Amino acid sequence: MRPKGLLVTIDGPAGAGKSTIARLLAQKLGYLYLDTGAMYRAVALAAKRRGISPEDEEALTRLCRELDLKLVPRGDGLAVMLDGEDVSEEIRTPEIDRLSSMVAKVPGVRECLKERQRALGEAGGVVAEGRDMGSHVFPDADLKFFLTASPEVRAKRREQDLRRKGYSVSYEKVLQEILERDRRDQEREVAPLVVPEGAILIDTSSLTTEEVLKRLLEEVERRLSSVS
Ligand code: C5P
Repeated sequence: MRPKGLLVTIDGPAGAGKSTIARLLAQKLGYLYLDTGAMYRAVALAAKRRGISPEDEEALTRLCRELDLKLVPRGDGLAVMLDGEDVSEEIRTPEIDRLSSMVAKVPGVRECLKERQRALGEAGGVVAEGRDMGSHVFPDADLKFFLTASPEVRAKRREQDLRRKGYSVSYEKVLQEILERDRRDQEREVAPLVVPEGAILIDTSSLTTEEVLKRLLEEVERRLSSVS
């Protein structure tokens, strides 16, 4: 057992329900919620603000290395702090959806964030959520999940999310962007999105949040009773 508890990973494509489930699971267990997508989003936002092209690998890697980026537990979630400024809202726009999946292709950015993620997660007591948590960053995690859902269900959820935030978006456009992000995540050379070895696969298409959470908690209980 790690000093602070289990290291749980949750991977999967955009809109599979990972963030909601990871946040709730971490809350239930009293663990840290490590939102690694937020880290890629913060790099994308910093690059945009500094006028760095998402194609400029060298400048992006340098930027990532010197970035003052902190994830601060707040209320029932996480605040993302960039150079001391709370950018939690600003990293969730459709433009940053797209830019973050572009900077995520850059090997130097992935390496830099992997080091930061390991430093935060290795002691355990963490629910780490992303695309490569169980496959690359924490291949020795105690419990790995892969959440998925059909592209149509994922696009519907994302459309509802965006509408709630006041964006007027069409379902067709959201579906097209989700498919584009899936393609970039699955086809990139470094740490592509895959089902990690040993991961428990859950299709959330026809499940409620409560049902998915219950399923994960059962697995956590099983894992905890096998190590104690
Ligand atoms: O999960 P979220 O949508 O916030 O992630 C934003 C983008 O960051 C994803 O589209 C993906 O390209 C990238 N990402 C990644 N590896 C992670 C987490 C996110 O490549 N571990």
